[in-house]
Amino acid sequence: MAELSSKYTKILSDIEAHISNSEEREYVSKKIAELSSIYLELLDRSTKINCIKINKIEQDQEKLVEKVTKIQETVNLIQNDIYEYDGYDFEIVCPYCNHEFVMEVNDEKKNEIKCPECHNMIELEWEDNENVFRKEQEDQNSDEDDDF
Ligand SMILES: [Zn+2]
Repeated sequence: MAELSSKYTKILSDIEAHISNSEEREYVSKKIAELSSIYLELLDRSTKINCIKINKIEQDQEKLVEKVTKIQETVNLIQNDIYEYDGYDFEIVCPYCNHEFVMEVNDEKKNEIKCPECHNMIELEWEDNENVFRKEQEDQNSDEDDDF
């Protein structure tokens, strides 16, 4: 700011040095001063506008953070529902007799479970917290192998 005002003073003294007519000199100096104040006002206004814009961006940012936090909380709740560690019920459809039953899953995941209806053993494969159950494939495999 000090540098700017010294430049300003230098311009004014230049004008004084180059205009000998005192009336003209005063007039030009006055106009320069008016022009400067207009520029200062513009600068001031644009600073204020920028300030308002920045405040608004900050407020929007805060709202966004709030929303993301809420979403995160909801996701956590859903995650707790799905992957509840203390054990949860898992619905199984028996691939042998289509009997539907619920198995309780505790911290240890079983590899197989006996169907309460037809008493066949159902093999369980756990992948990414989902399970796939399928028939033991001994009879199907031997037939297919012969074709090749
Ligand atoms: Zn069954």
